[in-house]
Amino acid sequence: MSRLQLGQTYLNYVDGRWKPAGNGRQTASTNPARRQEVVGYVPLSDREDVDAAVQAARRAQTGWRKLSGSVRGDYLYRTAAILERRLDEIAETMTREMGKTFGEARGETARGIAILKYYAGEGIRKIGDVIPASDGEALMFTARVPLGVVGIIAPWNFPVAIPIWKIAPALIYGNTVVFKPAQETAVTAAKLMECFEEAGLPAGVVNMVCGSGSVVGQALAEHPLVDGISFTGSNAVGKQVGQICLARGAKYQLEMGGKNPIIVAADADLDLAVEATVSGGLRSTGQKCTATSRVIVVKDVYEEFREKLLARIRTLRVGDGMNEDTWLGPCASEKQLETVLGYIEKGIREGARLVMGGGRPDEKELSDGYFVQPTVFEDVTREMAIFREEIFGPVLALIKVDSFEEAIRVANDNEYGLSASVYTRNIGNMLQFIQEIEAGMVRVNAETAGVELQAPFGGMKQSSSHSREQGQAAIEFYTSTKTVYVKP
Ligand code: NDP
Repeated sequence: MSRLQLGQTYLNYVDGRWKPAGNGRQTASTNPARRQEVVGYVPLSDREDVDAAVQAARRAQTGWRKLSGSVRGDYLYRTAAILERRLDEIAETMTREMGKTFGEARGETARGIAILKYYAGEGIRKIGDVIPASDGEALMFTARVPLGVVGIIAPWNFPVAIPIWKIAPALIYGNTVVFKPAQETAVTAAKLMECFEEAGLPAGVVNMVCGSGSVVGQALAEHPLVDGISFTGSNAVGKQVGQICLARGAKYQLEMGGKNPIIVAADADLDLAVEATVSGGLRSTGQKCTATSRVIVVKDVYEEFREKLLARIRTLRVGDGMNEDTWLGPCASEKQLETVLGYIEKGIREGARLVMGGGRPDEKELSDGYFVQPTVFEDVTREMAIFREEIFGPVLALIKVDSFEEAIRVANDNEYGLSASVYTRNIGNMLQFIQEIEAGMVRVNAETAGVELQAPFGGMKQSSSHSREQGQAAIEFYTSTKTVYVKP
């Protein structure tokens, strides 16, 4: 039985109140596993709604900044407790809105709770250093101060964890927030806002405006009273957002795509490597920026690895994420399904060999959703689009190489550099990989898609604006440093 009431109307959250879009427009958020199911109706806001939210955040800023870190932390602890109480309901909303399995959605919501608690604790950790001054009588120190109003533009693939890993550090360091969720997951976002509301945050400290990215997201990036933008999403939009911020002197942080390789060395434990490839590449239907998409296997073990991989993928069950036996849910939207099918076609056209999947599943009960079969290509070469571009779907490209050195060269031959993994038992291979791989997240005998909330997260090359999120690294973006010199 469902824990939610489907088809309800959700509003923007501005200045501590729930408000419809000023233009009165709204749109339906539907279930990608069953297109007829309306999860809820959400506002399609305009620039004026963004302006009202930014003004509210600006008004709330001084009061919020002046609270002690421990008091701000208490609000986050309360939000965590409320989210914990509502875990199953919010996880189900996520599954119905964007398709990932209920188990994964529960895991993500639990992660959100842990992140809130982590940053609540940050409220009483150090925010500066004392530096010896050349004058023995003077005191010189640094103090971290909030940026001010922070705009948060989030994607649909982690609709609880990503907003929280941006909102929680923004708040703990004394910023106020205007949050623009992805339109695909605005109902989940509204429920997250309800948790902040119930925790009693003062009006205007957290605001949410729903609407299309090109209207609401852009208005937020352009707003002169927004001091910084934290964005996660596609490279094309990220770069646009970065340019807008740069032009008006605002701070920005961009987390974007990946084309993450796993290298399987000749001495790898092949069963573990298969499990990591399947889990890293296909969970969440491949819709993770850290998803494994290029599988680079040394020739000595290629055939054996390939057979084990295909056998394992044959056991995966595609279906509605709310069904207990489903392993792979649908793509999150029609647009996403079309993108994935487009890349599969391109792969075939460019000469890669399709060895598994390659289309929509045949089962009649899946015909109403955006389902796609887990897909494997081999004979993938470096010029092909499926080697070079982010697909964001359950598509694996197998590449056979002659040596471990060649594997690293092939792995690095990409404009992205988010996450990379190696499976090997050889310490020399491990150290070579750690030194030479061009990736922000380097994983040895672990899948590409694992992220720990207390460690820095982010990519090299085109995968990010070279900043890092999560853990204590978040203080770099959400604060400015004051260097203070006091001469008595
Ligand atoms: P987008 O980059 O379009 O969306 C990310 C966020 O940015 C959403 O909130 C979106 O709003 C918003 N946005 C869109 N256009 C603008 C704009 N002009 N100005 C400001 N904000 C904007 O990603 P998509 O959802 O369209 O996905 C496309 C591809 O991006 C995927 O196939 C995948 O390759 C990649 N992607 C990567 C992610 C990652 O984790 N690195 C996450 C999601 C996508 P809205 O969608 O509501 O209109």
